[in-house]
Amino acid sequence: MPLMTDALIIGAGPVGLFQAFQLGLQEIACQIVDALPHVGGQCVELYGEKPIYDLPGIPVCSGRELAERLQQQIAPFKVPLHLGQQVMSLAPTADGGWQLQTSSGQVFLARAVIIAAGVGAFVPRRVAIDGLSAFESSQIHYYQTDAIRLQGQRVIVMGGEDAALETALQLADSGHCASVTLLHRNSRFKAEAALEQALQQAVARGVITLKVGQPVGIETAAEGSRLVALQIATGDDSSETLAVDALLPRLGLSPKLGPIADWGLAMERKLLTVDPATQATALAGIHAVGDICHYPGKRKLLLCGFHEATLAAFALAAYLRPEQRQLLQYTTTSPRLHELLGVAGSSART
Ligand SMILES: Cc1cc2nc3c(=O)[nH]c(=O)nc-3n(C[C@H](O)[C@H](O)[C@H](O)COP(=O)(O)OP(=O)(O)OC[C@H]3O[C@@H](n4cnc5c(N)ncnc54)[C@H](O)[C@@H]3O)c2cc1C
Repeated sequence: MPLMTDALIIGAGPVGLFQAFQLGLQEIACQIVDALPHVGGQCVELYGEKPIYDLPGIPVCSGRELAERLQQQIAPFKVPLHLGQQVMSLAPTADGGWQLQTSSGQVFLARAVIIAAGVGAFVPRRVAIDGLSAFESSQIHYYQTDAIRLQGQRVIVMGGEDAALETALQLADSGHCASVTLLHRNSRFKAEAALEQALQQAVARGVITLKVGQPVGIETAAEGSRLVALQIATGDDSSETLAVDALLPRLGLSPKLGPIADWGLAMERKLLTVDPATQATALAGIHAVGDICHYPGKRKLLLCGFHEATLAAFALAAYLRPEQRQLLQYTTTSPRLHELLGVAGSSART
């Protein structure tokens, strides 16, 4: 079933979240989609625990804390979040709106779209071996997979960071797999000490096999329809073959602009060109905010993205309700905004 909304926000990074707040103040219903399984975009994915010092009125806060605060701020608007899915297509509808479809097959019908896609959708880093991608829909699992689906299978997890160690440990604990191998290109891990310790214990118990090496080729069976083994270069010119039924690469995430570049929007150096007064692109009802947009003088800073979200919300209110006069209301004093924020009747904060 398509989901209908006034505005669909692509990206739940800091700017996409604040966009939802500004749309809420303008009484424009919206929903948000993000490729990541969590909100916060770069702030959480790239520098969750690092301090930010240049947010007005907040002397210091971490990336993760900012994302949490933004979520608190939009809570009154009960914005539906659709996480872990990438918006793949955008097409005009006969009534002047837009139809969008995500990688999970969810369809949205929106009167307006706000692209807050930052540096692109964070997607798993792929394993670059000839012929491997043919097995992506069957034996290669880039995203979280239920251990039960891997019942009786010989599983190889790839990577040396938290996500790889966590996945290998969870699968080993589940007892569902025939074997669990952790394959990493060297013997140094970049993971939490507790995870490394748990890994060593699992290896000592024989429930995880540790392999150091680089995958360089594949072996297939049944006329190439099934992946049966990985060829591994193990250093000093030697190699090894590892039998595999399921490969779970956990090599980190990297941002990819992806399908947005094919939507017919004007772009300059992979950024969407917008009118800085309204954040409008050349397509009616489609605006872009945050790191993804470009105009003369644009700075890729949170503060600038928040400003752009505010302008885009005013512009969309005018676009969606052309008959209505636009008022500038203050959250401090407006009874209507207090009602929307769920603070009506509460005494002013001192
Ligand atoms: C290390 C580092 C430190 C920084 N420190 C500061 C600082 O101190 N002060 C400051 O002001 N700025 C800082 N920045 C910049 C700031 O983080 C960015 O300006 C900000 O994150 C931009 O927010 P955004 O919401 O536009 O994009 P992002 O944070 O990139 O979020 C975009 C979201 O859109 C999603 N997405 C993209 N395409 C799709 C799609 N097709 N479908 C679904 N989802 C999609 C992505 O998965 C992502 O979650 C820093 C950046 C980095 C890397």
